Amino acid sequence: DSKRRMRNGLQEFSPELEQSQQNRLRVETHLRRAADNDEFRLVYQPQVDLRHGTTIAAEALIRWQNHQLGEMRPDHFIGHAETTGDIVRIGRWVLNEACRQAAEWRDAGLGIIRVAVNVSYRQFLAEDLAGTVREALREHGLPGSALELEFTERVLIEDAPDTLRTFAVLRELGVILTIDDFGEGYSALNYLRRLPIHGLKLSQLFVEGVPGNHSDVAVCQAVAGIARSLGLGLVAEGIESEPQRRFMLELGVPVGQGFLFAPGLPPDEFARRMTTARV
Ligand code: C2E
Ligand code: MG
Ligand code: MG
Ligand code: MG
Repeated sequence: DSKRRMRNGLQEFSPELEQSQQNRLRVETHLRRAADNDEFRLVYQPQVDLRHGTTIAAEALIRWQNHQLGEMRPDHFIGHAETTGDIVRIGRWVLNEACRQAAEWRDAGLGIIRVAVNVSYRQFLAEDLAGTVREALREHGLPGSALELEFTERVLIEDAPDTLRTFAVLRELGVILTIDDFGEGYSALNYLRRLPIHGLKLSQLFVEGVPGNHSDVAVCQAVAGIARSLGLGLVAEGIESEPQRRFMLELGVPVGQGFLFAPGLPPDEFARRMTTARV
């Protein structure tokens, strides 16, 4: 905690510290009951073919609406949920709801839209993730290929005893496996080589600076090179402008995601976009 100040090994009392601790407690208390109180929902951000503009997948992003705290962005509560362990229950809800939605869209004839779900490293450590996923697919009558799981680089280094086996089982189920925010974290290339994943998502941290910033251009080129030589798919995150889209296309990145196309959309808006796009 960056707000935590130490002096002579003792924690210095400060109103700021007290406030941040109170805030943490408040968030964690409400978080514990949020799932039961039906306070979560998912929005869906299209993953778009950068050449033709067609939508090929939807990333499910969690939103939390609490009557006292207001609307909370995931960056403000996922970390807390990981600390307390609540992320395991929340993650199960997300997985189940995303599968339910994917099945509903298929039944409605919306086309074969793959839904991507973010998975925390804690879900890996705490439960039989492959079993949970298999059960969710079975319950909603979905093939594994209807689902994509996004892991952050952290999952690579936490090195749960059966990470490799879990990835292998998930891949066997047909689930698409990707590493999210690639380049932001540890970039453990050794693990990357060992894991049976399908693709990488280039972090928006570097997409932001292209085509103007030389070091961001260099990082994007390097990640594209890694993906190409390992035979992995690549999705560019956080595309906000036409020059960024063109840069990625010229780099050979086939798929992108970002505000240039759409933010995370409520399910009905996402469905409307899909139907109008096919006319
Ligand atoms: P992420 O998985 O990398 O998701 C992309 C984030 O970037 C989303 O923020 C999205 O709204 C935002 N974004 C998309 N396009 C653009 C753009 O063009 N410009 C900018 N500036 N931002 C863009 P969001 O929804 O606030 O989620 C933040 C992070 O929270 C996610 O990053 C993911 O790591 C985590 N998260 C979200 N939902 C879940 C979930 O269900 N489970 C877990 N474990 N983590 C989640
Ligand atoms: Mg993601
Ligand atoms: Mg990401
Ligand atoms: Mg992110």
